[in-house]
Amino acid sequence: MNPHLTERLFAAFPALFRGRQLPVTENLMGFGFDCGDGWYALIEQLATAISAHAAATGLNPLAVQVKQTFGTLRFDVDAADAHIQALCAAAEQRSSQICEQCGAPGALRYYRRRLLVCCDRHAPPGSWIAAQRPDAD
Ligand SMILES: [Zn+2]
Repeated sequence: MNPHLTERLFAAFPALFRGRQLPVTENLMGFGFDCGDGWYALIEQLATAISAHAAATGLNPLAVQVKQTFGTLRFDVDAADAHIQALCAAAEQRSSQICEQCGAPGALRYYRRRLLVCCDRHAPPGSWIAAQRPDAD
């Protein structure tokens, strides 16, 4: 994610992302958000929901790492209860339908043995939608 959007998220949710101040041996948020700009709104919505729940319950959740893994979002957070874990799981699920580059509706695709979520415009030539791949193997 670009530095401008990264700083906007850090500034908007200083408590949730306080780990960015810690050594990267303890917390990986110092590396920022290891995913494309297209998921900015998704991450902002998730952080808003987590922060609202934290304020209501007195929890103090700590984001540990946010990245793309196997094509979709992973949002790892410590000191989370089941509700926060469910919010993360729902956002991770939604990321499979949001282009990681631009935020438009997208699909999970295979490309060069990797998985990525992209819209039709950002789909690399030769990629194919994972759910539509005929089982040729
Ligand atoms: Zn796109």
